[in-house]
Amino acid sequence: MKPAAFTYHCPSSLEEAVKLLDEYGSEGKIIAGGQSFIPILNMRMSEPECLIDINQIKELEGIRVEDGVLKIGALTAQRDLEQHDIVKNNIPLLAEAIPFIGHVQTRNRGTVGGSVAHADPSAELPLCFLALDAEIVIHSIDGTRKTSINDFFITYLTTELMPEDILTEIHVSLTQPNGYAFEEFSRRHGDFALVAAACLLSVDEAGVIESARLVLGGVDAVPLLAEEAMDYLIGKSLTEETLERAVELAIVEADPDADLHASREYRMHLTKVMTRRALLKAYNRGLRKEGEHVKSLSTR
Ligand SMILES: Cc1cc2nc3c(=O)[nH]c(=O)nc-3n(C[C@H](O)[C@H](O)[C@H](O)COP(=O)(O)OP(=O)(O)OC[C@H]3O[C@@H](n4cnc5c(N)ncnc54)[C@H](O)[C@@H]3O)c2cc1C
Repeated sequence: MKPAAFTYHCPSSLEEAVKLLDEYGSEGKIIAGGQSFIPILNMRMSEPECLIDINQIKELEGIRVEDGVLKIGALTAQRDLEQHDIVKNNIPLLAEAIPFIGHVQTRNRGTVGGSVAHADPSAELPLCFLALDAEIVIHSIDGTRKTSINDFFITYLTTELMPEDILTEIHVSLTQPNGYAFEEFSRRHGDFALVAAACLLSVDEAGVIESARLVLGGVDAVPLLAEEAMDYLIGKSLTEETLERAVELAIVEADPDADLHASREYRMHLTKVMTRRALLKAYNRGLRKEGEHVKSLSTR
């Protein structure tokens, strides 16, 4: 299938891009890597009057560190983020999760900003950035604003981005908890997750959890921050009992739909398994960083 006819602009600066977005309003659509949007255009699920290709805007490229914060340009290829030394060394949650996104070929074209703006509730990057409590930087003709990722995802494929907005950067603190884990189940490698879980835990020398972030993907219209489970875990050590209770609290908030790939019941089962594995792995990793003497819980 072919997309409906559109006019095409390829601005070379952010200033030019926001002027075009302002001019076209809801009739103008940004295209970045095109890995999600080209199929949508081809299937005519979207028929914008104008495509604004942001690939020539240098200001949107690159990864840098400033004041202990990793600043990721929206146009950064997912593959470049995956291979970046700072990500490998400082933000291992991302390094663990990114290889699950599609295939090397799609990660070479697909951008970090495109994945977050697209906001598929099964996508790995939105899930991880929510676990990482990232900050989103947005530009429009009215200037720049920052928003917490906690408020960014509204519903399926919908974020707080307005038609005249462009996502320019994602900020992540380089100071990260000692325990992390990403777990995903999909039918084939490279498919979107049926269910995924991202977890970050700070574990002290005595094995007590000082901070917790737990996010589930594929279980609702947005990536789900399991707040009750997170609150419950603070001040506790992970035992079989506290682990089971945290999993129970997390899955209460899950509300997955059935589709061609899996029934609701199967997704609920996977939610339980992925959550348990992620919590356990994050906790055991946190303990190991604090000292080998503490006995780890076993995985199952
Ligand atoms: C075979 C295949 C397998 C895939 N598997 C996975 C997977 O397992 N997990 C996964 O997460 N993804 C997967 N994807 C999707 C891929 O990760 C996309 O790259 C990503 O979802 C969108 O990034 P993009 O740069 O291609 O954005 P585009 O497709 O260009 O745009 C997507 C949407 O975001 C908007 N947009 C893009 N950039 C910006 C911006 N800077 N500011 C505001 N709006 C913007 C566009 O207007 C559009 O609505 C797969 C894709 C393919 C083709």
